[in-house]
Amino acid sequence: MSFIEIKNVNKFYGNAQALFDVSINIEKGAFVTLLGPSGSGKTTLLKLLAGFEPLASGAIMMNGSDVSGVPTEKRNFGVVFQGYALFPHMSVFDNIAYPLRVRRMGRDEISKRVHAMLDLVQLSKFAKRKPSELSGGQQQRVALSRALVFNPDLLLLDEPMSALDKKLRVDLQEELREIHKTLGTTFINVTHDQEEAMHMSDCIAVMNNGRIEQFASAFDLYRRPTTRFVADFIGKSNLIEGEISEGKDKKGAMFKFDNIEFALPGTKHTGKVAFILRPEDACVNLEPAIDGRVSLQGTIHCSTYSGDRALYTVDLENKKQVIIYGTARTGIHADGTKVFVCFKAEESIILP
Ligand code: ADP
Repeated sequence: MSFIEIKNVNKFYGNAQALFDVSINIEKGAFVTLLGPSGSGKTTLLKLLAGFEPLASGAIMMNGSDVSGVPTEKRNFGVVFQGYALFPHMSVFDNIAYPLRVRRMGRDEISKRVHAMLDLVQLSKFAKRKPSELSGGQQQRVALSRALVFNPDLLLLDEPMSALDKKLRVDLQEELREIHKTLGTTFINVTHDQEEAMHMSDCIAVMNNGRIEQFASAFDLYRRPTTRFVADFIGKSNLIEGEISEGKDKKGAMFKFDNIEFALPGTKHTGKVAFILRPEDACVNLEPAIDGRVSLQGTIHCSTYSGDRALYTVDLENKKQVIIYGTARTGIHADGTKVFVCFKAEESIILP
């Protein structure tokens, strides 16, 4: 039994279905992220977890009991939602103390807990300030403290960093990871930022059109995507549609797209597939490979240089384009250069 079990959840707004048969299991202490494009249903799922919205069917289980009908305030979940702004007239201390006062905790205990939280988020100096006297990042840390101070079973975060600039966002990501590590509370975070999700989470639920496409670690999403959407959404990839057939000489499987064909040893797939080539799994050479790697002829369409690497867009013989990273330590290939795109076919990702 998992700590949180989301079972076959459906949700409608009027006639429009926002979630379709969503099921995931979340282990205690995990940092889970719901990731997907705008409108994919991330916030809706988080709202169902928080109890802000009812579900149409299915169940949300916690420690084996159904909490779907339990009101928000009885769920003992911490929430950092956009709509849950800080109380502007209260000091930082009082904002964080608020959930403890609601729970009628004693003064000394409140003081002890609030100061421990302030310490954890490094805001001890600001206890007496009003939220308006803090930066955006500091306000987010107060909101986080207020959501964590009562030791919730689960912390729900709705795009807590979306309003911050890039540098602050990265800092807060680090801090959030540290806090998660220190407290061991189960975190469920919503973001549309793939980098943020991969950086912070133990497990990521990739959502698309109200469905879970894949629920897996960042590594598995990147190296072992199970759908075209995930392969395309997570990182850069070349998604080549083609067909696998037995080679003429019965030597093994061949992958063919248009007039281009190469051997694909060891594959269990046949028929129409997508061949996924990550840009870092190939290189661009002036000569074909002599070590058994596939070498496809092409022409550099354009190249960009970002210091640590070059990014080449290469026109293959059949006019299909692929993007490939180069090391660019000794220079970069000019546009129009005839090249070979070399890669180990057996290391690529195949989707039926
Ligand atoms: P995300 O968080 O991934 O951007 P949402 O969960 O907010 O997606 O929305 C999922 C779908 O539900 C969208 O099509 C959105 O327009 C719709 N939706 C969200 N909230 C409401 C609402 N209160 N009333 C009607 N439709 C809504």
